Amino acid sequence: MANNWICNYEEIKKGETADIYFERVLDVLKKAGKADVNVTAEFSGDLPTNYSWGIFAGLEEVLSLLEGKKLDVWSMPEGNLFREKDEKGVEEPVMIVRGAYSEFAKLETAILGIISYSSGVATSAARVKLAAQGKPVYAFGIRRVHPALAAIADRAAYIGGVDGVSGIAAAKRLGIRAVGTMPHSYVLIMGSPEAAWSAFDKYAEEDVPRVMLCDTLYDEKTESLMAARLLKKRLFAVRLDTPKSRKGDFEHLVREVRWELDTAGFSHVKIMVSGGLNEYSVRRLSIAGADMFGVGTAISAAKPIDFSLDVCEIEGKPVSKRGRFSGAKQVYRCVNCFSDYVTLWEKSLSKCEKCGAQLAPQLVRVMHNGSIVFKESAESIRKRALEHASKVGIPELSQA
Ligand SMILES: [Zn+2]
Repeated sequence: MANNWICNYEEIKKGETADIYFERVLDVLKKAGKADVNVTAEFSGDLPTNYSWGIFAGLEEVLSLLEGKKLDVWSMPEGNLFREKDEKGVEEPVMIVRGAYSEFAKLETAILGIISYSSGVATSAARVKLAAQGKPVYAFGIRRVHPALAAIADRAAYIGGVDGVSGIAAAKRLGIRAVGTMPHSYVLIMGSPEAAWSAFDKYAEEDVPRVMLCDTLYDEKTESLMAARLLKKRLFAVRLDTPKSRKGDFEHLVREVRWELDTAGFSHVKIMVSGGLNEYSVRRLSIAGADMFGVGTAISAAKPIDFSLDVCEIEGKPVSKRGRFSGAKQVYRCVNCFSDYVTLWEKSLSKCEKCGAQLAPQLVRVMHNGSIVFKESAESIRKRALEHASKVGIPELSQA
């Protein structure tokens, strides 16, 4: 085999991407007659430093892995906001699996990897989208992860709230149009920025917005005006992808380009920025006047959310390791102030202690005895992520 490093779906589903210790103890549990002990296990996440919330993602893939096993699963839907802990410091479960330990032990590694990566990406996407003050953000980051993850990275970014993705693979699966402009190599091959822009305008499909890369050979201001004079009303936006060595004060550059375009009568031309952006630079550039953002590494290679699995019941009896709370739990969220309250599953809560408004349970039934009983479109997940993220916001960004 020319390439034996990409683990395929069958290997993952069979548990061949597991950590060996699961396989070892499963074998021991079988010999000890304990493999079929019924357990309830909870998944909860440790957020990156300074994050007060995350956006849950990866459930669709997890359910597909667990499909057909004798398991019941409850989960927050994808796009749901989650926290490490509730108002009283009790860990929030995002997902609960119930069944024989042997049914899912060898999939724990895979499940954690799926939700840790996808939730990390979705969370960062939601944060960048908030930073952009409602302006369009596009995920341009699949070049920062292994190609085997291309569709997964872009899907997580999209359901986390970005407006479009650059990858063909995810766009095809999501039924959306991939977004992109032109690489510097194209401009160099065409010989001049003008030759590149006019050929693109002539030959690219008519419904592709004319976004011209304006920083290949000359100053951003010069090239932006050149492009505007050449394409006039047909020019939708200029893209500034200024290299690190020339970046200096990128915000000032955006202000300058905006000023000159307006002065020359091209106020219809938008400014797209890309290149090493994160939530902080996006916020600053948005204030400076940038209209659209292409964000790569900060989204596709976002810090993963450290999810872990804890057994919280054995044969229906509450158990826990040190540092954890025993018993299966539900998360109730205030529909008004978004405060969270975790309680034992069989108890229920109805009123918010802070504001008195109604509480709503966050974990819903998603699998019944191995059958998937919950399905949702990417659009509706994305809508939820944006709603939840904008409800709580990022306080530290507003102070930036
Ligand atoms: Zn409340």
